[in-house]
Amino acid sequence: MPVSLVTAQAYLAASAALGLFLGWLVAPIAGWVVFSLALVGQLAYHLRHWFLIDRWSRAPSPAADLDGTGIWYEPFFRVYRHERELRREIGHLQGEVERFATAGQALNDGIVALDLTGRIEWCNRSAERYLGISRRTDLGQPIINLVRQPAFVAYLNAGDFAEPLRFRSDRNDGASLSIRVTDYGPDRQLIQVKDVTQAERLDQMRRDFVANVSHELRTPLTVLSGFLETLREMELTAEERSHYLALMTEQSDRMLRLVQDLLTLSSIESAPPPSEDQRVDAAALVNKLFQDAHALSAGRHDIRLESRGSGDLRGEESEIASALGNLVSNAVRYTPDGGRITLRWAIGPEGAEFAVEDSGIGIDPLHIPRLTERFYRVDRGRSRESGGTGLGLSIVKHALSRHQASLDIRSTPGQGSCFTARFPASRVMAADEVGSA
Ligand code: ADP
Repeated sequence: MPVSLVTAQAYLAASAALGLFLGWLVAPIAGWVVFSLALVGQLAYHLRHWFLIDRWSRAPSPAADLDGTGIWYEPFFRVYRHERELRREIGHLQGEVERFATAGQALNDGIVALDLTGRIEWCNRSAERYLGISRRTDLGQPIINLVRQPAFVAYLNAGDFAEPLRFRSDRNDGASLSIRVTDYGPDRQLIQVKDVTQAERLDQMRRDFVANVSHELRTPLTVLSGFLETLREMELTAEERSHYLALMTEQSDRMLRLVQDLLTLSSIESAPPPSEDQRVDAAALVNKLFQDAHALSAGRHDIRLESRGSGDLRGEESEIASALGNLVSNAVRYTPDGGRITLRWAIGPEGAEFAVEDSGIGIDPLHIPRLTERFYRVDRGRSRESGGTGLGLSIVKHALSRHQASLDIRSTPGQGSCFTARFPASRVMAADEVGSA
């Protein structure tokens, strides 16, 4: 039995004993009066505690006192402790809920929780952005009243969520969205919204690339197989035979160049980032480019080299040589005979610059933003005639951007072009600095 209860019983027994004793010693009435006063005292004591717990239960708070005395001490203390534990538990659970909600808000995917009637219970910021709904005004609204695109409404109404729905949003610049619906809890649904615009774009680019490569290979292959047929089935003179063989070599060279450019592009794309410790002997590279220009031009152009400053580049030599070499070869190929080509090289602590200026056919400004796209050509026939694959400038762009370098294109149709590759200071190595060769 709890000590407090024993104390209470002892108090009652002592009051009764005192009452009996006074009743025997003085008069029975005196005994009853004392006993009654003791009972009234007890009642007042219990009423006071009842009042305390009643008041506390209306606004329980660990800060408010709930101090019981005597028989009330222990139950008060237990209630108080229990309430404190509950409060701690609720605080902990609230923290968990907040963490989940914050994580849900941070997701890139849009999330919308629907109740059993399809009304929005909760959604995150991404869902607001993708679907144009608002947590402030739209909670409790049926989602199909807010996102009214027919494909979306039909998908939700059909209730078959085995495959995700793809549709073009009428907001976010017509972004492509992928919608998945998952059942959770009793009769609730979770809508997951993903922006797949970029993935679709990449997919389209991959398809275009495969179609372009197939097309580029099919033309020379068709020509080659036609000539083979001719060689096999027709009686040809030695002169005709060597003419056909020369045309076939031209076609196979064309395919070889295409495959070489494709391999260069793919090796640049898959290689690890170029090191900053590797020294590229800039003077030797620029001189080699100058000689290559002469070799390609075979005396058809007036080619000059202007060089300023000293220092080397940091990076992957084969990639830089490939990028700058393509600019030089383009200048030669797109400058009519008798034209002028100037290579300008400048290097210093603030960065390096390689410019190729020609007096060639020039480019309409309309084409300039697209020149570095794979297989983009201003004049397909002219590019092919001069041995172009349509991949040169995309190799330039990739190789330069891997070295944090930029490509600037200026051109005037009929007057000429200037292609400039600019390397930042971080890619310049002073002549006396030690790097790996
Ligand atoms: P291509 O193999 O066709 O030369 P590129 O990617 O190197 O492919 O160049 C893309 C297109 O840019 C070319 O087809 C050509 O129309 C244009 N172009 C590139 N360099 C020059 C230049 N120096 N002068 C004029 N047009 C150029």
